[in-house]
Amino acid sequence: MEKKLALYGGEKTINKPFTKGMRYGDNELKHLKEALEQNTLFYWAGNKVKELGEKFKNMYGMKYSVATSSGTSAIHTALAAVGVQPGDEVITTPVTDMGTIIGIIFQNAVPVFADIDPYTYNTTAESIEKCITDKTKAIIAVHITGAPCEMDKIMEVARKHNIKVVEDCAQAHMARYKGQLVGTFGDIGCFSFNEFKQISAGDGGICIMNDYTLYEDALRFADKNYNRLAKTLAGMRDVTYIAPNYRMNELTGSVALAQLDKAEWICERRHTLGRILNKGLSEIDGMIPPAYTDDYYETYMFQLFRVDIDKFNTNIEGFVEALIAEGVPAQKGYIPSTVYQYPLFKTLTGHKGTHAPFDSNYYGKEISYPDGLCPVAEEVNNKTSVSIHFNEFLKDEEMELVVKGIKKVADYYRK
Ligand SMILES: *Cc1c(COP(=O)(O)O)cnc(C)c1O
Repeated sequence: MEKKLALYGGEKTINKPFTKGMRYGDNELKHLKEALEQNTLFYWAGNKVKELGEKFKNMYGMKYSVATSSGTSAIHTALAAVGVQPGDEVITTPVTDMGTIIGIIFQNAVPVFADIDPYTYNTTAESIEKCITDKTKAIIAVHITGAPCEMDKIMEVARKHNIKVVEDCAQAHMARYKGQLVGTFGDIGCFSFNEFKQISAGDGGICIMNDYTLYEDALRFADKNYNRLAKTLAGMRDVTYIAPNYRMNELTGSVALAQLDKAEWICERRHTLGRILNKGLSEIDGMIPPAYTDDYYETYMFQLFRVDIDKFNTNIEGFVEALIAEGVPAQKGYIPSTVYQYPLFKTLTGHKGTHAPFDSNYYGKEISYPDGLCPVAEEVNNKTSVSIHFNEFLKDEEMELVVKGIKKVADYYRK
């Protein structure tokens, strides 16, 4: 017996606002006050960014870290450090934030998109290997939604072909694959502290690595290619090529440092809530939850699931509209279309008003990004998936209500 949908004037499943909490508090204030009292907000003179770097790398059991101004700049820094140069190809996923892609194009390298798995929404070792050419310099493995890529297999493929691996962990703080934290598998792990991630300093980012040369290169690249480790001023200004200013300041460092104290419980809560949703979805005919086995410990920046839409008397837009009317925090797909369907790739305009880097002599190849390039990514992101956004303060019962709302809509429209 289907109940009348809220969309058609029925009773709303979720009729009071979800629990919210304060993300920032006394601990952040304490560190900010200490930063101001240092009388310097410059990372190399103060202690907050240094403490953040120490604490973060220790949490992940890594040797070195380089804090940056954003996740985007962390990824750009990592690409530069592993040696991505004009004309190189970098393989990544078409279902991601532009922050994954921007650094590739700023290096005048060319993005190549590997298709995703329909049950984890991540690129796989198999899909990545198909994209490897003699121009491939690096892979950016993106742990989308906070669910890990199959890093053991991806590393195997990368090592076999002598390709560097950068992990984009912007959505995946504290996520694990086979017990190992993401960000510790590849050559460099990159994280974001923007407002929408598990932990936030408004903006900010960090790279972690074990190789000293990568550390030195990343440190320089994020800071105008200045060599802060040099003994003399002339040595510091021994600049041999350009690099941007991607430095983190002490205010950002203070907030990020304070947030690290909360990272574990936030990620644990998000994991638990996401799993409640998955389990609920698995009991609703026509819903296809992500298939994360015991190898996965996902920390959900948000949740994504698919709808077997042919089983329903509506399309994905209609399904989502009905969910929203029930009070379910739903959105169609994750991004409006796959990344390569954005105008930039249709018109091959990397740098404004030009076709660089796609037409550069360094590249010397033709590339295009037609519709259908990654059929699974298009099917999942553009046509059949729903994302659910939630915060760590949500109660289990509130997530059960989300499930209830989805079930109501599914029962109503099921053929
Ligand atoms: C947020 C995000 C980025 C970029 O991080 P910013 O801090 O916003 O620059 C990169 N990749 C993914 C997958 C992201 O979700």
